[in-house]
Amino acid sequence: MNNTMVCNGEASQLDAPINESFDVLIIGAGLAGCTAARLFALQGLHVALVERHADVAAFKQLCTHYIQASATPTLRRLGLDRLIEDAGGLRNGVDI
Ligand SMILES: Cc1cc2nc3c(=O)[nH]c(=O)nc-3n(C[C@H](O)[C@H](O)[C@H](O)COP(=O)(O)OP(=O)(O)OC[C@H]3O[C@@H](n4cnc5c(N)ncnc54)[C@H](O)[C@@H]3O)c2cc1C
Repeated sequence: MNNTMVCNGEASQLDAPINESFDVLIIGAGLAGCTAARLFALQGLHVALVERHADVAAFKQLCTHYIQASATPTLRRLGLDRLIEDAGGLRNGVDI
């Protein structure tokens, strides 16, 4: 397995053992893993997020062009709502 770990916002290959302890270890840096990692980190916990894909852009193979309105409270808790809009995300009135 080709695991990548993100520490302090930077991805690094796990070619060698990491001599560091963590409060939380999360396997899989998809939406769920990244969300959990950030929420734990916002609580002040030291988090290791391990992903089998080495390329941090691997997730972009998925569409993720549309965010359900039900995700908005979580995006606010993550502190990402404003960043998404600053990056060009648009609100709409579509009700699915
Ligand atoms: C083509 C496509 C388009 C989509 N478009 C949208 C959209 O526009 N809007 C939307 O809201 N949703 C969209 N979805 C759905 C959305 O992508 C999923 O609901 C979401 O990705 C699920 O997140 P997750 O974290 O649960 O799982 P995943 O995204 O599957 O993340 C799991 C992660 O864990 C990693 N992993 C698994 N096993 C291991 C292991 N043993 N060791 C290390 N890492 C591991 C995987 O590599 C992966 O990165 C789309 C899905 C697809 C397939």
